[in-house]
Amino acid sequence: MIEITLLGTGSPIPDPNRAGPSTLVRAGGQVFLVDCGRGVLQRAAAVGVGASGLSALLLTHLHSDHIAELGDLLITRWITTFTPDPAPLPIIGPPGTAETVDAMLKAFSHDIGYRLAHHDDLNAPPAIEVHEYTEGQVWDRDGVSIRVAPTDHRPVAPTIGFRIESGGASAVLAGDTVPCASLDELAAGAGALVHTVIRKDIVANIPQQRLQDICDYHSSVEQAAATAARAGADILVMTHYVPALVPGQEEQWRTLAASEFGGRIELGDDLHRVEVQP
Ligand SMILES: [Zn+2]
Ligand SMILES: [Zn+2]
Repeated sequence: MIEITLLGTGSPIPDPNRAGPSTLVRAGGQVFLVDCGRGVLQRAAAVGVGASGLSALLLTHLHSDHIAELGDLLITRWITTFTPDPAPLPIIGPPGTAETVDAMLKAFSHDIGYRLAHHDDLNAPPAIEVHEYTEGQVWDRDGVSIRVAPTDHRPVAPTIGFRIESGGASAVLAGDTVPCASLDELAAGAGALVHTVIRKDIVANIPQQRLQDICDYHSSVEQAAATAARAGADILVMTHYVPALVPGQEEQWRTLAASEFGGRIELGDDLHRVEVQP
């Protein structure tokens, strides 16, 4: 069984009730954080997961809303891991990830210096290992495997989606993308597809070009649902709602998705949890 928890279902616009884009995936005793939007550590704490308990951080792309809490995650994991010589945190992302992580550590270099000087048992900066991929198998440990494939979020490039498999169950994390053949292939036969959704019927009518621009490189609810249908996925999990999902309007979103996808549709607030069976 794979357990998916929507830690953050928001977008770049701050929302009092929604953290930034982040999804927690628990599989085979391992804990993966997919993207780390604002507020993710608080949401993870609500389900008993701390930064020190992560098996790996997986990044779909380097848009600010998906990495807003990266710096805090690196520092918090470092100062809340009490074992000597802790294993490095694996961070798997597209090319550009290493540069971003390095820059984040540089931004916190004064903090890192203060703590190294103050705490006798901290004698090295945060231990991190970055792996950059655009496709292929990226993880194979203790019964959990992860594969990545390119997505299409152009002009943001490269961007990747993840497929996590454990004990016959599978979950695909698409991130922000328009429909594309490589995502269809990655998601083929998946137990669950977690996908960003944009209400283009609403956003396209906002008289502000910068907001209308976001329709270019995201999937609408119907497009995400059609991707799930082409893939033959069992469950579509919608997240990263733009505009924010308003309480009472869940059925509207569900109906739009159901127009293209006959399987189970999951949507909800932060901490919504979905179990994926083999
Ligand atoms: Zn994006
Ligand atoms: Zn985004």
